[in-house]
Amino acid sequence: MQSKLTREILSEYYRRKFSIEPLLKVIGIEKFNHREFGFSVMREDGQEHFIRNLSFETPFELKKFMSEKGVLAAYVGALFDPPPSPNTSITRLRWLGRELVFDIDLTDYDDIRRCGKGKNHVCPICWRFVVDAALIVDETLREDFGFSKIIWVFSGRRGVHAWVLDKEARTLSEEAREAIAIYISPDSIEEPLTYRYQMRLLRRYAQRNNIILKNLGKKEFRKIWRRIRQEIPRIDKKVTIDHVRLLRVPGSVHNATGRIVTIIKDIQEFYVDDAPTVWEILGIDKREDTILA
Ligand SMILES: [Zn+2]
Repeated sequence: MQSKLTREILSEYYRRKFSIEPLLKVIGIEKFNHREFGFSVMREDGQEHFIRNLSFETPFELKKFMSEKGVLAAYVGALFDPPPSPNTSITRLRWLGRELVFDIDLTDYDDIRRCGKGKNHVCPICWRFVVDAALIVDETLREDFGFSKIIWVFSGRRGVHAWVLDKEARTLSEEAREAIAIYISPDSIEEPLTYRYQMRLLRRYAQRNNIILKNLGKKEFRKIWRRIRQEIPRIDKKVTIDHVRLLRVPGSVHNATGRIVTIIKDIQEFYVDDAPTVWEILGIDKREDTILA
C-alpha cells in the first residue's frame, strides 16, 4: 500500500512527536556538534535532493532543522574535526571516529527466500533470515571480538542495523572493519570458518529447527551444513567498511514505508509491524488523509 507522505506530515512529526532520545542512545551527546548529518529534502521544484556535510550545535537545532525542512530521510555519520559544514567536504576534515556498524537486509537473501511471494516484500517467513543473521552477528561480536555495547535498530523497511558502541570499536580502521565483516560474512561459500564460528552456526540452526545434532547421519549432516552455509549472515560489507557511511537516524521516518526507524528491544521477538508508522503516531487516518486527533 503506497501512502502519501507529505512534507507537511513529516514537518508535523518532527515538530510534535520526534524524540531525540533514540539517536542519543546510539551516538551519545559527547562531541555532538562534530557529528556529520545528511538528509533527503524536497526542493522547491518538487525534486528530491540529498545533502550531507552538515553538523548541528545542539540536538535541539537538529530537530528544528528536520521539522522546518520536513526532511524525507535523515542520516547520521562519523565525527570530524572541525565540525562538518556545507562549505567544507568531510574528506578535508580530520576523522575522529565512528561506531562499528552492520547492515542486514532481506534483499540480500532474495535467492533463498522460500515463502513463494517473490522479492521486494517482508513476511514473517522471510524475516527469519534477518533475525537469525542478527543473532549470529550479535553473539560473534560479543564472544569472538569482546564487544558488549551493541544496539539493534530497525531500518524502517526490510532490514536492521547493528551499532557497536564500545570505545575500541569507534576508532577501528577501515581495514579492521573489513576483517571483522569478512570473518562474520565470508565472501565465498568455500571460505574456511573458525571452529568456534562453525559450532555457533550449527547450534543456532539445530536450536531453531529442533534438530539433535548427534543423531544426524553423515549424509543428513552434509545437507544441513550446505543450507547453513547458504544462510550464513549476509551483511552489506560496504556499510561496515566505509567509516564515513551515513545510516538512518533512529527515531526518523523511513520515507518509503512511513515507519519509524526503531531501536529494537529484543531482536528475536521483533517484527517489522512492531515499528509504528508516522500516520499512527500523528493519529492520521490514511484513507481520509485527515487528522483525527
Ligand atoms: Zn516472504
